[in-house]
Amino acid sequence: RLVLGIETSCDETGAAVVDECGSIVGECLHSQKEIHSKNGGIIPPVAQALHEQYIDHVVQNAMDAANIKWTDLSAVATTIMPGLALSLSVGLQYSKDVIKKTGLPFIPVHHMEAHALTIRMVERVEFPFLVFLVSGGHCIIAVARDLGNYLILGQTKDDAPGEAYDKIARKLKLNEHPQCIGMSGGQAIEHLAQTGDREVMKAYTPNLQSKDCTFSFSGVKSMVSQFISKEEKIQDVQAAQLSNINDIAAAFQFKVTHQLVKKIARAMIYCKENSLIDTCHQTMVLSGGVASNGYIRNAMQYVCNEYGYRFLCPPPKLCTDNGTMIAWTGMERLKRNIGIANEVQNIRYEPKYPLGEDISDQVKAEQ
Ligand code: ATP
Ligand code: MG
Ligand code: FE
Repeated sequence: RLVLGIETSCDETGAAVVDECGSIVGECLHSQKEIHSKNGGIIPPVAQALHEQYIDHVVQNAMDAANIKWTDLSAVATTIMPGLALSLSVGLQYSKDVIKKTGLPFIPVHHMEAHALTIRMVERVEFPFLVFLVSGGHCIIAVARDLGNYLILGQTKDDAPGEAYDKIARKLKLNEHPQCIGMSGGQAIEHLAQTGDREVMKAYTPNLQSKDCTFSFSGVKSMVSQFISKEEKIQDVQAAQLSNINDIAAAFQFKVTHQLVKKIARAMIYCKENSLIDTCHQTMVLSGGVASNGYIRNAMQYVCNEYGYRFLCPPPKLCTDNGTMIAWTGMERLKRNIGIANEVQNIRYEPKYPLGEDISDQVKAEQ
């Protein structure tokens, strides 16, 4: 069996065909990143227009790469939540047209579930496992109990880490930095931080006092942002020319990572105290765009070693948005005959939709 996956929730137009074993039979991805970075952020109608312009090309390319016809497919799976309304609408409308034309079964996909399940394409991971989704729009710690069954232990109350990376990268004008050509904000900060000294900012890491697993990145963001403004004045140069730009990148990255480490450790303690995860094979999966960050991966490997968890993370190319993870989530559902839509024409996209039950109010652990 083969499933075609279509992703248009944000700024990536992606399509891919995967088989039951998780092999990618054909794929195509068109990123709008360059255009949005010139605009200083995503303008939803621009994103929509670009999805509309590229979607057919991207899907046809994936089908051609797979060397298959519509009749070779078993289902079409498409992201319908959460995401930008205007972006989601393009993928859903395109899919409805395909379904009408081909009569194929349709499987609606939750974008964050797709990030969570990507690992099962490449590794053997049984439910329940602990999953940490760190991306451009989310920061979620959840117990993946089963397909479509997630227990949220903590999530962000304001910004997502990827968003914070992008904002600090913009504040530092890294798109003009000679060492960061063609990199996303996150990649640029990670790159500069490698040779930086985080001690340049000695102030405490915000949001660690509470005993819960919720996140807040607005404090880190404004703290680092103010520090940059101050340095620009003192050194009398543009942000990209700051002599200690590497140190600032390192300090920011450390503060973000420090919070991620603290909270996931707390979640591991909470899971143990409440027997949420089988202690014989505890696995923690890190996924989402920010999971492609090597510094954060290393930190997570360290926490997992401390708490006796196996640490897994998809390859970087599968951490950021792509059509493959959507196709795979469709395949997981198809195999178990869960979540296949009838009345396709009535399906609607949902810009905001929780991944599962949120018990973050009850979660407390000493750490
Ligand atoms: P969501 O999945 O929450 O809907 P999204 O789909 O926009 O958001 P992803 O594509 O999963 O997000 O991730 C993109 C984010 O990942 C961007 O904010 C980007 O800066 C960040 N990112 C990518 N590479 C890195 C890196 N090496 N270090 C830190 N952040 C990174
Ligand atoms: Mg994206
Ligand atoms: Fe994503």
